[in-house]
Order: sequence, then structure tokens, then C-alpha cells
Amino acid sequence: MKQFIFQKSRMKELISYLISAYPSVYAPVPRGKHFVFDKIADASNVEFKYIRTILPPKKYLMPQHEALVNFTLTENLEFKEELVTDRQVILGVRPGDIRAIKLLDDVMMNRNKDRNYIARRENTVIIGIDGIPDEYSYEDSVMDLKVEEGFDLFMTDLGNMILVDVATEEGMKIINSIEHEPATERYLNLRENILNSQREMFTARIDIQAKLLPLVLEGKWNHPIWEEMGRKCLSCGQCILVCPTCYCFNVTDDMALSMEEGTRTRHWDGCQLADFTLVGHGENFRDNAAARIRHRFHRKFKYHLDVFSEIFCTGCGRCWETCPSEINLVEIANALSSEEVE
Ligand code: SF4
Ligand code: SF4
Repeated sequence: MKQFIFQKSRMKELISYLISAYPSVYAPVPRGKHFVFDKIADASNVEFKYIRTILPPKKYLMPQHEALVNFTLTENLEFKEELVTDRQVILGVRPGDIRAIKLLDDVMMNRNKDRNYIARRENTVIIGIDGIPDEYSYEDSVMDLKVEEGFDLFMTDLGNMILVDVATEEGMKIINSIEHEPATERYLNLRENILNSQREMFTARIDIQAKLLPLVLEGKWNHPIWEEMGRKCLSCGQCILVCPTCYCFNVTDDMALSMEEGTRTRHWDGCQLADFTLVGHGENFRDNAAARIRHRFHRKFKYHLDVFSEIFCTGCGRCWETCPSEINLVEIANALSSEEVE
């Protein structure tokens, strides 16, 4: 990893270079009171001072709706695969979302080889930027704020200067498009100070080390917290749809009126929706909200730890902020772990 600094006033020049050099550049832009990742055509539209976007940048690696195959029901059944990918840059990605993409890579590229995800991921340049927390953020409880992998460039705002970590050759090519110089010890120390002050800013915290939660969960399958949260949950599914580490999907075949051709499409889906586990003969093996919330908590803090040794929650706070019942995983974790301490 190499570190450089450049004048913040050169940021527009850098973004303009990206727009000219890549077919698609996505970056955070304001949308009403919120922020979204959107395709940009003008450097002045980008806003780096955001806390979180409504949807995470995973939407450019695994779209909400994605046509997989077009088929024709002729005598010889014909299939035409739909995947078209081009080079893309996702700019202004927060550390938690970089980590989330790394976790998705583990699932979609290493453990299961998802052709569409791999094609998009290999065509994607990721440029990260540091961020600040709000009352819903708890990254500091579940991950290291200093990300060391999963990006091409990572920028830290030092005031008038930007410190940039360059992790790949493509990242180096991009930084070579503007004037820059090697980062001295002074700038690296400044970054450490900024990281330390960011750590102090978190107000939401899991009270124990999050990697101990699998132990805490032992014997808690029938804990009253699941019923308590289940009574509040509306099963609207917003929490799983905004989550950067959720990757479940459904696949549907849609036929044209002629009934001779159709499209197989995959759509985001998830465990908090009531019919996610609905199977043949009307059986639903997680037919109540309490069981669904318990499952989601185990997915984030136990099952994936068992398989990947990783917590599948980045503490981004999207599910908490978006939940109409203010259900959040910090409250559940602390309710479960407080009994261990007593
Ligand atoms: S957003 Fe809240 S209310 Fe909706 S499914 Fe998730 S936990 Fe339940
Ligand atoms: S579970 Fe919630 S806080 Fe954790 S990564 Fe998903 S949306 Fe973010």
C-alpha cells in the first residue's frame, strides 16, 4: 500500500478524470433529506459529507432486479443470457460499505461462484472515503474503522489536504491523473488522530466484543427479547432491503402474453418478509415475526461467524434508521449480553 497527499481543491479534477475515463461513475448525491448513490455526469454533483446512503453501493454489483436469461419456448428451447457489464467506478464508499462488499465477495465469489456478481465485481473500481457516525452508527463495535483492503483508493479528509491510500495499479493510474506527492509521517499521524477522534464519536455501542455474541446466544433460543421485538415488527422488510451485507434473492419466470417467450429474473428478497420461508402446501417454517428477527440476528452475529469467521453486520445503522418500529440489533445484543454480566 502506498500513501500520497493531494490538495483538496484538486478533487473536482480527479472526479472529472473518472467521468472521462470510465463509462459509469457512481457517487453519493443528495436526494431530498437523504443521500443516494447515483450515476454522475458532473463533478459538482458529488457530496462526500454524508452519513449513509439509503441503499448501499452493493446495488451496482447485485442489482435489485436483474434479468438472468431470456427464453423462447420453441420446439428447441432457446436461452439467451442477459449479462452485460462495463467498467464502473463507485466513488465515495464509506469504510463499512467497503467491508460489506468484501463480505459479499466471500459469499458470491469464493464460497459460491455467482457469474453475474463476479463479472460486475471484476469490472468495478472502488474509491473509499472516511466518514463520521451519527446516533444509528455502531461500526466501531463490529469492525476496524481503518480498512486495509477491498478498495483501489481510500481517501481521508485532512482539511485542506486529502490523504490517499493506493492499493492497486488501477488506483495508481487514477491518482496519477492529478498532482500529488508522497505522504509524510506528519500526514499519517494526522490520520491516526482523526480515526481516534472518530472512535470517540460513537454513541451507539454493543457492550461486549461482538465476536463473543455466538457464545452469548447459547441457550437464548427462547429468550423473551425475540417475542418483545416480534410484537413490534411490522414485517415490512425494509431492514433487509437496505442492508449492505444481505444477499438473499428470489428468482421468477415471467411469460409474455403469447406464452412463447419469457424472462427469468432475480430480485432482492429477505428473511424478514413473511412469505420468504413459505414453501409447498402452504407451510411456513418461520411464520412469525419473533422467529424471523431471531433468525436475522443469528445470521448477522452467529451463522456467518461460524462459516466465514466474520460478523455480517458493519454497524452502518441503515436498518435502525429505516425501521418504522425502531428495532435495532444493538438493543438486542445488549439485552442478551447484559445477563451474562449480571
Ligand atoms: S424494518 Fe423493522 S418493522 Fe420492518 S421488518 Fe425490519 S425489524 Fe420489522
Ligand atoms: S444489519 Fe443493519 S447495521 Fe448491520 S450491516 Fe445490515 S443494515 Fe447495517
